[in-house]
Amino acid sequence: MNSKQQFQIGNVAIGGDAPVVVQSMTNTDTADVQASVAQCKRMIDAGAQMVRLTVPSLKEVEPLREIQKRLKSDGYGHIPLVADVHFNPKVAEAVATFMNKVRVNPGNFTDKRNFSQLDLSDSEYAAQVERMALRAKPLFEICKQHDTAVRIGINHGSLCDRIVSRYGNTPEAMVQSALEWLEICEQYDFHKVVISMKSSNVLTMMTATKLLHDSMLQRNMSYPLHLGVTEAGNDREGRVKSAAGIGALLLMGIGDTIRVSLTEPPENESPFGHKLVKSIENLDVKKLQIQDKVLVYEDDEADEECWMCCAAAAAGYAHFHHKLREVQLHNPHFSEMQNADLAKLVMQACRIKILNTEFVACPSCGRTQYDIQSVFSAVKQRFAGYPGLKIGVMGCIVNGPGEMADADYGLVGASNGLVCVYEGKKRVSEPMLPEAAMEVLEKFVRCSVESEIP
Ligand code: SF4
Repeated sequence: MNSKQQFQIGNVAIGGDAPVVVQSMTNTDTADVQASVAQCKRMIDAGAQMVRLTVPSLKEVEPLREIQKRLKSDGYGHIPLVADVHFNPKVAEAVATFMNKVRVNPGNFTDKRNFSQLDLSDSEYAAQVERMALRAKPLFEICKQHDTAVRIGINHGSLCDRIVSRYGNTPEAMVQSALEWLEICEQYDFHKVVISMKSSNVLTMMTATKLLHDSMLQRNMSYPLHLGVTEAGNDREGRVKSAAGIGALLLMGIGDTIRVSLTEPPENESPFGHKLVKSIENLDVKKLQIQDKVLVYEDDEADEECWMCCAAAAAGYAHFHHKLREVQLHNPHFSEMQNADLAKLVMQACRIKILNTEFVACPSCGRTQYDIQSVFSAVKQRFAGYPGLKIGVMGCIVNGPGEMADADYGLVGASNGLVCVYEGKKRVSEPMLPEAAMEVLEKFVRCSVESEIP
């Protein structure tokens, strides 16, 4: 891959000419040591080469240390563990003393996301960046001392008000947020850094990552890049979305680690991730046939998931460079109808043609307190067939509303098995059982569809 800088995260080499690393993330409560250890083992057995766990508060720090200890003693210590931290620099500092990597989100490290338009002068803006840099200093000092890596995880859905007010909610804004943090890292002479630019919109994720890649080259920086499409959902749709975004970037020679996020048991993620990496190695973009903005892609790949990976990655790559208007797929191992169905999914994922409701759903994590997998499947079934409508199903109230802010409607997890209904960014119901929330959601969807009938 293009990144020149290579370093070790635990036993795993990342960046430079190291192979692409396939990661995954648990969705257990991190305080539940037994369940988390068991899930980590299933994920590692399924091929995860790095495992991330959420650490919502200081309460989960000691359980996390215990999880690491038990995995080591049970022979799983060769897999690096990553702590996922939002909102709380103190938690990041605590876990940085023993984890292999800490993921922080610049959108919520010290900044806030209240969807407010801030009118900051240049000096006020610079003062806020300086405040963030000062608050991040202890984390980088601890990481240097303990040889811990940091992932700067930019999410399109959780950019802070300061960045959005100045640069819009755009790929360029994501790049600015990443560059601010890279400059802070360089200021503290800290270089064990991985960056990710995630979005549930495949084109936004691709554009932001490519822009950051190019911006780093211009600045003579070469930090490894982690790739992923957030809230991709589940089943074929989730896999196709991930393959389109991640696969297209890998085809451009960009990306050092990947995660295929699925609203499914986490052990399903890595097998598909490995198939994606392998499929890309065998795909030659010079052979793509594009005429009059139509991609005609032929292959004789017999494995259905590999065929899915190749078709989605080829389409993502071709659409990024040529703004396609159609994708046609041909593979003799599958019927014409199967190929046409896959082409529709690929076009929807890349937003070449929107033919169905767009669903986004987070993969869930230790913050989720309801059965998101079955609720999401029920939502998909009930609200299919509304092209132009976007519905989100998110695990928690902490990050969910921000991450699905461009959805028309959504369900967001509250506590104790309950969810709230959202209309855009606004909560429109009290916490309630998912079945009741779906009834409320149905009323909103009907109203919105009927109001569009002339
Ligand atoms: S939105 Fe989902 S994945 Fe993100 S923090 Fe909340 S529960 Fe976890």
